[in-house]
Amino acid sequence: MNAIIGIDLGTSTTEAAVYRDGKPEMILNLEGRIITPSAVGLDEGGNWVVGARAKAQYLLRPESTAIEVKRKTGSGETVPLGKANYTPAELQSRLLSYVRAYASEYLGESVERAVISVPAYFNDLQRRETIEAGEMAGFSVERILNEPTAAALSYGLEHLDEESHVLVYDLGGGTFDVTLLEMFDGVLEVKASSGDNQLGGKDFDQALEDELFRRFRLKHGKDISADRQAQVRVKEEAEKCKIALSGQDSFRVLLPAIGTVGGNPVEMDETVTLEQFEQLTKDLLERTHAPIDRVLEDAGLSEDDIDRIIMVGGSTRMPMVSRDIADYLGKEPALAVNPDYAVAEGAAIMSGMISGDMDEENGLVMTDVNPFALGIRVTDGFDDDLMSVVIPRNTTIPVTKTEQYATHYDFQTVARIEVYQGESRVASHNHYLGEFSVRNIPPKRAGREQIDVAFSYDLNGLLKVTATLASTGKEASIEIQMNKGKEEKTDVSGWKDARDAKAYRAVIRTAERTLSRDSLPSGIRERMERLVYELKEALILERPDDAEKTEAMLNALLDEARDDD
Ligand code: ADP
Ligand code: MG
Repeated sequence: MNAIIGIDLGTSTTEAAVYRDGKPEMILNLEGRIITPSAVGLDEGGNWVVGARAKAQYLLRPESTAIEVKRKTGSGETVPLGKANYTPAELQSRLLSYVRAYASEYLGESVERAVISVPAYFNDLQRRETIEAGEMAGFSVERILNEPTAAALSYGLEHLDEESHVLVYDLGGGTFDVTLLEMFDGVLEVKASSGDNQLGGKDFDQALEDELFRRFRLKHGKDISADRQAQVRVKEEAEKCKIALSGQDSFRVLLPAIGTVGGNPVEMDETVTLEQFEQLTKDLLERTHAPIDRVLEDAGLSEDDIDRIIMVGGSTRMPMVSRDIADYLGKEPALAVNPDYAVAEGAAIMSGMISGDMDEENGLVMTDVNPFALGIRVTDGFDDDLMSVVIPRNTTIPVTKTEQYATHYDFQTVARIEVYQGESRVASHNHYLGEFSVRNIPPKRAGREQIDVAFSYDLNGLLKVTATLASTGKEASIEIQMNKGKEEKTDVSGWKDARDAKAYRAVIRTAERTLSRDSLPSGIRERMERLVYELKEALILERPDDAEKTEAMLNALLDEARDDD
């Protein structure tokens, strides 16, 4: 119930998936297909058409059809369609409405929540417009997720080592994106991204189309490449041929009555071998190398530093692509992901994490950690101000953890649950988050009534604390929104300069090591705990200015602590 779906809103195709029964599941559209062309148009009657039907009318009625609208996102340009102009967000929302309709049909419930992926290089405005498009389509957009991060999620982060570098190679329909991600302390960060937004599957189609028209000209002495009808048919057939050649050695293009010679209809009958196709497109493939070099350079890494290569995008199904990348980088790409589905699947996995459908047994995927311990104040003998930690710091989130407590005096009927975050053993030295009470506890001897306190902390920073009285099952709970700047926190991997983030984490680790020393004077300890907390918060909420200031203060305090030794 109340499913969140993951959507890969691609430049040329769109896919959606849902997290169900412990895994992502691709959603079929109203035509029973997983892949929907990202095309929107108006038919002759002025009605909206979306997907395959829109793509089919594109070559015949381009003035009423919009393709590759994603390229215009955030540009401020409008797209003319029929008699009116539309913003890219409006057109994208048409596509998303279709997704919402088919997902609702597929899941048998009205789907209202979505995670939508965007290219890593999308700026704030482009991200906001994507959210806007989602909202116009009736979605509550729970999160915007970077496409390469999504691909890495679908690959299965739990396989990744503590510190590793992942290269996501995404060759789609019209664009090529290459992204270097660093996995560090359970957080995925985009270190560098580059690409060529004029290189994709359609260029490979074009090379074939040119070849087919060239052969026709040689054979029949007539150039038919300017003929609209011929264009439409050859284009369609060229893509079919290209896709077929991903699985077989040759393909016969047969198009009856494609042109006329001397008043008589002539067919196009050409066999294209894989070898010929690869020869024709060699230079296109070579163009992928420069962006790869660029991300490596920007990230300050060499090819030997790459631990994993993940291939996404329909065009990586061409066998020459993985061969080429393996040659070029000296490493075989990982085979585990489906290049067409990986991004949508990753978005669905993120959805599962947000909705809490994914738990540890299902192989929790790490994308974020809880940077502060969370717990409640408890009483222990004479001390009534102890911090009892329920979720330790650096726990992968989302997470739910339960601890058992008991009444601590005779005939206690009310238990107050005070919630804190922080590293101090003294509860009141930590940051107070809120409290609630469990009432109507049956009066018994101290320790005879058990109270289970469950903490659920999700990726949106929502902390839910529930106390259940074991004997009666009665519950009380509180919900705390931990980071108010939710819209600022679009994605764990969005930190602008990965080098900075890494430097900050090094400082945090030094401080945490210092904090673990018992000899640390309490005055310094308290200030240091506070600053560590603030620096983590600045990192998580992506506030570079705060991070910089806090780091400076923390470094000064670390010096002070050193002098103190
Ligand atoms: P985007 O993310 O840009 O929307 P996709 O990743 O969906 O694009 O890729 C679409 C492209 O993949 C199209 O050019 C399509 O022709 C191509 N494609 C799909 N399947 C295959 C295949 N089996 N072999 C070669 N190319 C393919
Ligand atoms: Mg894509």
